[in-house]
This record gives sequence, C-alpha cells and structure tokens, in this order.
Amino acid sequence: MTVRAREAFYAKQKFLFALVFVVVAVVPLLILNFNAARFYQDSWIEGTSLELTTLARDRKEIIDRFLAAEEDLLAGYLSFFGPHALVDGQRLGRLFDATNRSGAITDLGVIDHLGWHRAYHGPFEQALSNENYAQADWFAEVMKGGRYVSDVFPGVRQVPHLVVAVADADRRWILRATVNSAFFNSLLESVNVGPDGDAFIVNRRGEWQTPSRRGQDVPSPAQLALFADLADRGGKAVRSGDHLVSAIAVNDGRWLMVLKSSLPAALASYDEARRLDTAVVAIATVLIVLVAVVLTRSMIGRLERAEQDRSVLVNHMGEMEKMALIGRLAASVAHEINNPLQLIADQAGLMRDLMEDERQESLLHAEDYFLALGKIRTQTGRAGTITRRLLGFSHAPEGRDMEIDINQALEETVALFEHEARRHRIVLLRRYGANLPKAICDPARLQQVILNILHNAIDAIGKDGSIEIASRLAGDRVAADFADNGPGLSGTVLTHLYDPFFTTKPKGKGTGLGLYVSREIMEKSGGRLTAANRQEGGAVFSLYLPAADRRQTGGAEQRV
Ligand code: ADP
Repeated sequence: MTVRAREAFYAKQKFLFALVFVVVAVVPLLILNFNAARFYQDSWIEGTSLELTTLARDRKEIIDRFLAAEEDLLAGYLSFFGPHALVDGQRLGRLFDATNRSGAITDLGVIDHLGWHRAYHGPFEQALSNENYAQADWFAEVMKGGRYVSDVFPGVRQVPHLVVAVADADRRWILRATVNSAFFNSLLESVNVGPDGDAFIVNRRGEWQTPSRRGQDVPSPAQLALFADLADRGGKAVRSGDHLVSAIAVNDGRWLMVLKSSLPAALASYDEARRLDTAVVAIATVLIVLVAVVLTRSMIGRLERAEQDRSVLVNHMGEMEKMALIGRLAASVAHEINNPLQLIADQAGLMRDLMEDERQESLLHAEDYFLALGKIRTQTGRAGTITRRLLGFSHAPEGRDMEIDINQALEETVALFEHEARRHRIVLLRRYGANLPKAICDPARLQQVILNILHNAIDAIGKDGSIEIASRLAGDRVAADFADNGPGLSGTVLTHLYDPFFTTKPKGKGTGLGLYVSREIMEKSGGRLTAANRQEGGAVFSLYLPAADRRQTGGAEQRV
C-alpha cells in the first residue's frame, strides 16, 4: 500500500468509525428524547384536561346550587308568609332587605295568576309595578312547571338579567326574583382557566348567559354542536384547535357552561422544560461527536502507528535477511579466496626455502627477492586474517548455541570496527580477562549484539572518545563490558531502552530495535544484557553468558 493509499484508507476508517459511533450513540438518544417529549406532552395535556374537567364539574355544582338555592328561598317565602302577606309592598321590601345581604338578587315581585304585578320591591318600581307578564315566556313556564329559571334577557327594563320564579301549589301566585347579573357573572369570573382562557355560559341557541371573557362573537353552530356533544359526555375536556375545551350542562340542561384553556399557555412550562431537554440533548450530542472524533482519531491513529511500526519491523527483518545473505556470500567468497591465498603463501614459502638452498652469489638480486617474498607472505597473511574474520563473522549457522572463546568473539567483531572508530577518532581499549572459561552462545547472534552495542556507543560519543571493551568472569557467567564516555543514559532512555521502536536517533538512522533484539538474543541463549551509567560519565552495557565449565576460574586482567 502506498503512503497516500494508506492515509486515504485510515481517513476512511476514521470517518466510518466515528459515524458508526455517532449513529449508535446519538440516534437512540434522539429517538428516546423524541418519544419522551411526545409522551410527556401527551401526559401534560392529559393532566391539564383532567384539571379542566374537574374545574367544570365543580363550577357546575356551584351554579346549579346557587340557582336551586334561589328557587328554594322564593318557595320558602311563598309558603311561609303566604301570598297575601307578601302583596303588602312594605313587608316585601323588609323581607328583601333582611334576606338579600349578599346582593344576589336585585328585586322581588309578586304576580297573580293573570300576570299582573301585584307587589314589587326594587329599583324599577315605576316601570314594572303595573306590568302584565301574561305573555312573557317565563310566566308561561312557571305556571306550567311551578318553578322556573329564565335565560338572560333584556326584558322591559332593557338590561340583561335572569329571572327565578316560583308559583304556589294551585298556581294562583308567583314570587319572582331578578338575579343580579353582575353577581351571577361573578360565579364564573373566579374560574382560573389561565391566560388566554375563557369561561362562559350559553343557552342551547347560542345566546350568552354570561359574557365571554375574550369578547368572543356568539358561538357558531359547529361550536355549539361541539359544546352540546361535550356536555353530553359529562364535561370531559378535549382538544380543539389550540385550546382544551370542556362544556357541561347547567340549569337542568338548558345552558352550556364552557371552559376553555389555551394549550400554548398550558404548555408554557412544559415547553420551558422541553427547551432545557433539547439543550441537554444538543450538548450531549456535541459531546458524543467530540468523544467519537477524539476516540476514533486516537484508536485509528494507534492502529496506523502499529501498522507503520510493523512495516518498519518488516523492513528491518528484510534488511537483516539481506545482511545475512551478504554474510553468507562473503563467507563463500572468503572461503574460495582463502585456499588460493594459502597456496600463494605456501608457494612463497617454498620459493624462499628453495632460494636459501641456491648459491647466493649466483642470485644477482637475492636481497630484493627475499624482501618481495617476505612482502608476499605478509600480505597473504593479512588477506588471510581478513578472510578468516569474514568467515568467523558469518560462518556459524544461526540459532545454534556452542562453546565459544569470548575474547576471540570480541576481538573478531571489535577488529571490524577499528576503521570506523578511527574515523570518529575513538580509541578502542581492550581489557580481555585471561583464562576465562568458554561461554555458551550462538556466535553469529553474539556478533550481532556486539555490533549493535558498539554502533550505539559510536553514535552516542560522536567524535573523540573511547570505548573500553572488557571480558571477565562474573560468578558462573562470562561477562563482556562495553563502557563508553558518551553522554550516558537519561532517565527516559533508561526506562524505554529495550522498548521496540524506541530511538532517539534521527529518522532513517535508528529503528529502535537494536537493543530489543539484542536482549532477546541474550535471553534465548540463557544470557543477560544490562545497561547502566558510569560514575565517570558515559554508559556501560554488559553481556552475561553462561559459562561452559564453571570449574574454571578467571585469570589476571590482560591488556591487549
Ligand atoms: P537505535 O540504535 O535504532 O536507536 P537501540 O535499541 O539500539 O535502537 O537503542 C535505543 C536507544 O538507546 C538509542 O536511540 C539511544 O538513545 C540509546 N542508547 C543506546 N546505547 C547508548 C549509549 N551507549 N549511550 C547513550 N545512549 C544509548
């Protein structure tokens, strides 16, 4: 996968993951909120309807009781005092004053069976005293039923009022009272139907019995039909447009008392709670989205880094494979070269022996020949040493522990570094212990570890310094120390030294795998790798390898 394709892939993964996260977390939240909102609104409306229904039923009770009480009062006067006593205007006036403390009625009148006003006490004495009611609706009704509450009507006095009238048993006399319309209206005015609400009474023909609070026009036939229908259902409130409406029959079913509550006003506090809810859900949604984005970025970022690390590891392994291949090639080339070199050296030796047997005087340039042969032997010797080192470096098959001479193993690798060290003006000091027991290790792997430690030391020192390479016996182990006078190991470096991919080197130079792999190698062979800071500055890395023969003891330190 190219870098761009990989970036596109991870960007897509991030988007998808965040999307799934958001959908899984936010959608149920929104559905829940939506359902809860609907449920709460329904139950809120239900609650308000119930309140309105109860209010209507209570108020009906008050109004019906008031009208019944007025009727009972008149019936009581009629039977207690008798019509003849009441026809006396003065007595009627005293009765009116004595019993009408609350001002519920405005006048009292006694009417005979022919409809003549026989006595009257009230503010309309002039207008009403000689009035004949024989043609009035209420008169006919009361003569028929004995009791009657009229609708509100302007009547002779041209002022809206309603009449309560009661006849005696043989329908000869009628006692009639005019209910104070202000008092009657006040029975409904105290009903709390909230702002924008309404409360009124209409008769079945739609005529106002009490005024609409909102100055509404007379109800339309459709509204009237709705009120009648609601009244038939016992006053149960229903939703109609943006109002809750309750209507209930009063005055023996001749009137409809209507209570209206404005839904927006009733839902005001619910809407407030909803707004709060919505704000909380919105904040939660934003938080979820944020968390989704942050979490996704970090998770996919980690995955991406892990993938990158993996590819670095794969590259590194590939590099190692390549190095191993080159090592094997070098070994075979060294092997091939070694034999001819040996032959050249032998032949040079033979030539030298033969020449020594010759008569020296016959050899004109004897001295030069010997010098040349010496040079041939020296150079073939040097070439031989190089090929042997190369062979040693790559000969041993990997993964097989064997007994090795630690000093020899150290020297073979350290010698390869001589040139590199000189380039950095770094001195390699050997302090190999004498008579050390053989150590058990995979030589090729050991060389890899030593190489890595020396490389790190050179990188740490940079230029001008020294690396001390020592071997010693440490209990039942053979140890090798590599002490440099570089900057040493900081706290963070010490903590993460063996972490894979931990490196402080510039990109492209370090992989952070060297010490991780080295420690693995050592532990596989039953050995150990340690690192510490030296008191005099710099770092010291030590290898501990199992000794092959524990009985052998270390000798005196030997400087090479
Ligand atoms: P790399 O060499 O690729 O960085 P290593 O695992 O070999 O990976 O080393 C890890 C880190 O340890 C190095 O980047 C360096 O910071 C630190 N380190 C290793 N050897 C030394 C040393 N001799 N002196 C100071 N720091 C060292």
